[in-house]
Amino acid sequence: MLCAVTSQVFGADTRAVSPAGDTAAATAVQKLMASEKGRGGYVDKATMRLRCKICGFIAEGDYAARAHAGGSGHKEFAPAP
Ligand SMILES: [Zn+2]
Repeated sequence: MLCAVTSQVFGADTRAVSPAGDTAAATAVQKLMASEKGRGGYVDKATMRLRCKICGFIAEGDYAARAHAGGSGHKEFAPAP
């Protein structure tokens, strides 16, 4: 059985700047990209534009999105036109 190591700290309130925010943001970005791809759009994670749902910051590329999340703790992104 593969149920031993599933203790990822999800749902932890990472309001303070922490490395965990970066991981969570990366996960959010990946999910978003997957859903965009699922709708038939071509997604280049280096250039895709993401809008922070919390403060409206526009990040160009997943790296910028992760950097924003790491610095602000914001982890929710939506595709930006
Ligand atoms: Zn933000």
